[in-house]
Amino acid sequence: MKPPREPELELRGRLIRSLGSLREMLPGSFVERQRACGRPNCHCADGQRLHSQYQISVLIDGKPKALNIPAELAEKVRQKIEMRRRFDAAAATICGVNLKRFLKEKEDRQV
Ligand SMILES: [Zn+2]
Repeated sequence: MKPPREPELELRGRLIRSLGSLREMLPGSFVERQRACGRPNCHCADGQRLHSQYQISVLIDGKPKALNIPAELAEKVRQKIEMRRRFDAAAATICGVNLKRFLKEKEDRQV
């Protein structure tokens, strides 16, 4: 006979197993800003067709930093920062499942 299904444990297991795929995650937030480069004969000099500048906005030793990212790495970095968001969401769900189980266990003990 199979043990009864425990959907929350299945969810927890699934989330735990998914964390390995997030190992390349990066902290901070992804920033895209538009800027002029300052060269007078560049197409950006008209103030309309600006250059995209990509940055990671992140705390390093408690201090906010904006790190420039080369354009060819921007999409990869954006995805890695998104991994961190998924990691945090998975951790919050796992903690929620565990807290519920802990409270249940505590309650059962008091009966
Ligand atoms: Zn320019």
